[in-house]
Amino acid sequence: MNIRVRFAPSPTGYLHVGGLRTALYNYLFARKNNGKFILRIEDTDRNRYVEGAVENLINSLKWCGLDYDEGPDAGGDFGPYLQSQRLDIYKKYAEELISKGHAYYCFCTPERLEELRKEQMAKKLPQAKYDKHCLRLSKDEIEKKLSENIPHVVRLNVEPGKKIIFEDVIRGTVEFDSDNIDDQVLIKSDGFPTYHMANVVDDYLMQISHVIRGEEWLSSTPKHVLLYNFLGWNLPVFAHLPLLLNPDRSKLSKRQGDVAVEDYRAKGYLKEALINFVALLGWNAGDDKEFYYIDELIEKFSLERVNKSGAVFDIEKLNWLNAEHLRAKPESELLLMLKDEMNK
Ligand code: GLU
Ligand code: ZN
Repeated sequence: MNIRVRFAPSPTGYLHVGGLRTALYNYLFARKNNGKFILRIEDTDRNRYVEGAVENLINSLKWCGLDYDEGPDAGGDFGPYLQSQRLDIYKKYAEELISKGHAYYCFCTPERLEELRKEQMAKKLPQAKYDKHCLRLSKDEIEKKLSENIPHVVRLNVEPGKKIIFEDVIRGTVEFDSDNIDDQVLIKSDGFPTYHMANVVDDYLMQISHVIRGEEWLSSTPKHVLLYNFLGWNLPVFAHLPLLLNPDRSKLSKRQGDVAVEDYRAKGYLKEALINFVALLGWNAGDDKEFYYIDELIEKFSLERVNKSGAVFDIEKLNWLNAEHLRAKPESELLLMLKDEMNK
């Protein structure tokens, strides 16, 4: 099997330590298995787009030494894949889904959707869901509305009463009930795809063999599985990484210290220490060493040794690793670093 993995951040700000861990595990897995590591920028949500975030992500990854392997031609060099430049591709597959009855146009106004939500809330339904109103439109009605340019989205046609089951390397067999899945929007009214649509189409077209990402995406996976099935595509291997936690086991926040890679860089942390620290957030090499260089990490990495339970972000440990790495540096390198620092 050709191993191909990707890191697929959305350009909404800086590179978070959680993002760095995802990128690192993908990178280690690719390097260990002679595979390819792809960077794909998921920039289809124009409201969340932050100016300069792509450059920032790339710089942080570069600083950490996590080079990606391929991408579209960017004038002599290659850049990362940008989803915003692939809109036609997603549209084509959305049309294929519509023609097969697995997706449909929805012309409901925001007002109608809001009414529906309120009604469902009043009924204390566990979760607001679209009522498939537009699935009942006739072909002629749809044609007419399209020709009148009535704003619309494309929705996934989720069949109720089905079990969606998939295997996850870390979590084992995962099961979802399709009753709990809304008819997801696949293409928004601005013509941009949603995360689900673009993510699945690209993972397929880029021949991604293993989808390694944070656990916060686990609830998206059944929607993706439906898309793969509807499009007649084989599933990749899924691996959802454990959550990162504050020492009190709440979800990792700024409370315990910096969460942006660039902040550690600015404070003069060694990238080796940060990488080492992040590698050990939810993974272990099965020995009692605490101090690894990147080559050792590559050699030892396996998805089987990723933990299921959340990983506590312990800043003391990072500081200790930083001090150890600093001690291990040859004097000449330290001098260079010092000089670098003074030239800043
Ligand atoms: N764009 C998503 C993110 O920002 C990617 C999730 C995934 O890897 O599928 O993390
Ligand atoms: Zn509708």
